[in-house]
Amino acid sequence: MAKSTEEQKRQRAAKCALRSALEAEADDRRRRERDEQWKREGTRLTWAEYAAGEPCRGCGQPMTDELGSWPPLMKLSEAEKREYEEADKKFRERHADCRNSRWTVSGSRLTHCCFCCPPPPLGPKQVEKLARLFASGPSREERKKDLDSWDLTLRCDHVVACIQHRENTHVSTRVVECPECGERRGVVSSERAGPAYRDDETIRERAAASRERLAQELTAAEAKLTRQQKNAAATQRRIAGLQEQLGSEP
Ligand SMILES: [Zn+2]
Ligand SMILES: [Zn+2]
Ligand SMILES: [Zn+2]
Repeated sequence: MAKSTEEQKRQRAAKCALRSALEAEADDRRRRERDEQWKREGTRLTWAEYAAGEPCRGCGQPMTDELGSWPPLMKLSEAEKREYEEADKKFRERHADCRNSRWTVSGSRLTHCCFCCPPPPLGPKQVEKLARLFASGPSREERKKDLDSWDLTLRCDHVVACIQHRENTHVSTRVVECPECGERRGVVSSERAGPAYRDDETIRERAAASRERLAQELTAAEAKLTRQQKNAAATQRRIAGLQEQLGSEP
């Protein structure tokens, strides 16, 4: 009986993962169609247009109202709270099918929709900063050492590799191109396979370092177990003592 429950649980989880992969695919399709439309219709503002105060071409509102960002919710006055709630209600009505994520320009209270409104363009200063950041980072060869490969199982049952920085604890990409189907497919599950570039000396050193770390963790866990066993033995002695007292009382 218990076994079939486990099996049912597994099936339910698989069904749920499949449903969410299909939803991600639908979202992905919608987003790509929208990107195409933005390209065709020139919906994104250029920096010059943005700087000149052109309104958002997604929703038609100004990009900024220059009222300053909203203070923290707890600090709003009654009038501000009403104003905030009214704006929030209007936004939800206008973007009922947009999954409720939004953005604002810093220093503004006007809310734009992450689906309908192209984000504000990068300014020359931001572009310069990003270029500097990129140039000062590790070289491509250096970065390779910190990359792990993950196996992604797609909803078509094909498995594709995904490479990302080792610090990531999961794969956030929800839809990828499946070379076998020739279509973009939703990810059902993912598993870390190990360093992406195996023939590299440094990667082997890293593997050794991680074995060392595991050995340390094992020693610590063993010490903890010993402590817990000692505590349990002390508690047992105390129970035995109490039982003895209880038994010897008239
Ligand atoms: Zn907008
Ligand atoms: Zn929207
Ligand atoms: Zn496939």
